[in-house]
Amino acid sequence: QAEDISLVARWLAESESTVLFTGAGISTESGIPDFRSPGGVWTKYRTIYFDEFRQSAEARREYWRQKSEAHVEFSAAAPNAGHQILAAWEAHGVARGLITQNIDGLHQIAGSRQVLELHGTAREATCLDCAARFEIDPLVVQFRETGEVPPCPNCETGRLKHATVSFGQMLPTDVLETAYDWCSDADLILAIGSSLVVTPAADLPVAVRRRGGRVVILNRDETGLDQIADAKLSGGIGATLVAIDAALSR
Ligand code: NAD
Ligand code: ZN
Repeated sequence: QAEDISLVARWLAESESTVLFTGAGISTESGIPDFRSPGGVWTKYRTIYFDEFRQSAEARREYWRQKSEAHVEFSAAAPNAGHQILAAWEAHGVARGLITQNIDGLHQIAGSRQVLELHGTAREATCLDCAARFEIDPLVVQFRETGEVPPCPNCETGRLKHATVSFGQMLPTDVLETAYDWCSDADLILAIGSSLVVTPAADLPVAVRRRGGRVVILNRDETGLDQIADAKLSGGIGATLVAIDAALSR
């Protein structure tokens, strides 16, 4: 493992274009559970698909109820050492930018600026009817007080939804295109805390590999792309990033 850490630090130092890619695993050390582990979101809630959300007021209420519960965890969470190191790598020119599946906004709070959110953000709501966007906090408060989904403050009747991508909903195409552009330019990608089983997550490292770049995976459990990785580090993500960062500054 120590050898792998210095190897990855050397690849980072040599790289001309590194892309960082993160999944729910980077935020578990901030107290936000991932999806697939026991106790994760999938074991707890009924999934509301996008079509159902659009068509049924009852589904919208259930969705807002679930999201208001999760909101407690999100607002209490702060970036951990891993988020901070990734932000510092961008600031120091070690990495070009960061692509994330996370919706918690912790990368931006840690100081990352070049962030592509593939699945949107839970820190904002968007109106499905007029596309206006709003900060989430006051809307969640309003939902808790009234038990009713708040109507859009802009068009007054529109259906407000968290600005995240639901099951059955398209990923934002502009964000996705930029992510593929970054990867087709990259000579190194670090995939951190993602099980890499669903697309596009599972495709982005493959895009880097295809153009001859290196793929490094930081994840405790097996991932869908372990067999194409140039290195796989299975320690805790925070500690592993701290170790790579220390090796990098030597
Ligand atoms: P995932 O749950 O499929 O994978 C997370 C991976 O991280 C797992 O393989 C797990 O073994 C690993 N992991 C967790 N904590 C770790 C640690 N401390 N050290 C090392 N490895 C660790 O997550 P995913 O692939 O990102 O997919 C889940 C989807 O759910 C995402 O698309 C995201 O939109 C959403 N989600 C987001 C958040 C968030 O924003 N923080 C949280 C839960 C789910
Ligand atoms: Zn509206």
